[in-house]
Amino acid sequence: MTILKMTKSMNAYIGTEKIGKIVNSELILEETSHTILEATVLNSRRKPIGKIVDGNFSMIGKPKAKKAKKKKKPTITIKLDSGFEAVCGNGKLPITTLIYNMGSASHCPSDIKGLCPFGSINGNGKLKSKCYAFKAERMYKAVLPYRTRQEAHWLNSSITQLIEDIKESLEYTDYMIKAIRFNESGDMHSIECLNKLKAIAKAFPELRIYTYTHRSDIMKNITIDMLPENLCINLSYSNNKEGFNSFILADKIKNNVPSIECIADCRKCNLCSFSTGINIAVKIH
Ligand code: SF4
Repeated sequence: MTILKMTKSMNAYIGTEKIGKIVNSELILEETSHTILEATVLNSRRKPIGKIVDGNFSMIGKPKAKKAKKKKKPTITIKLDSGFEAVCGNGKLPITTLIYNMGSASHCPSDIKGLCPFGSINGNGKLKSKCYAFKAERMYKAVLPYRTRQEAHWLNSSITQLIEDIKESLEYTDYMIKAIRFNESGDMHSIECLNKLKAIAKAFPELRIYTYTHRSDIMKNITIDMLPENLCINLSYSNNKEGFNSFILADKIKNNVPSIECIADCRKCNLCSFSTGINIAVKIH
């Protein structure tokens, strides 16, 4: 009896003749089988599964490649006595970006006011509930309470307190923070939020401060020269406001209007943190 190596458990044939069985990844030829030096081995459906060359068996086809484990991106969690909570870095943003939310997607002021087509409350048509931030709040139990705590802190803290919190965060992270992204969820609640952003940007001229908004009502009378240079507010709606970036769905950008496609990896791109008046085209993925 000859034993040859295979990988699956099945009957083995040469032509229509059953030559043996494969048990625990090994081909066990039947007692009656003669010595086989060269042959193509078939399975019960008569599909070639291996070859015997010089009496040695080998499988046809490549072995399955092992799935590479996804590396978790490095992050730093910040939790201060004042109630300030933030994180540096996530799956898309570098560790040098501090991320802080003015609120959650579930209670997003833009959605409530019907200004965001992706919202779960007043979103419209096929875009309703397409908000990524909202999906995260439904999928992971801790996300909504975390963002709700941030909202309370943001709304109840004075500008002085928020500046202190950011100073402490810079110390805590050994001054490696280069940018602050406001809102991976939520939006500005009122003009007061814009005033806080302006004050924070003025207090930290060495940092890039940026956010996205659907609040066309708040931004209506704001011109680019009213903002500190290091504050970038990306407008997530069609507009022709001078100096502001637009960050909108690719199919909402007219053919003759120049735009740059978002590569969805802010570790390699920082277009959204500088006001250059460009149109950034984003795809729903
Ligand atoms: S355009 Fe660049 S910076 Fe803005 S979200 Fe896309 S990858 Fe990030």
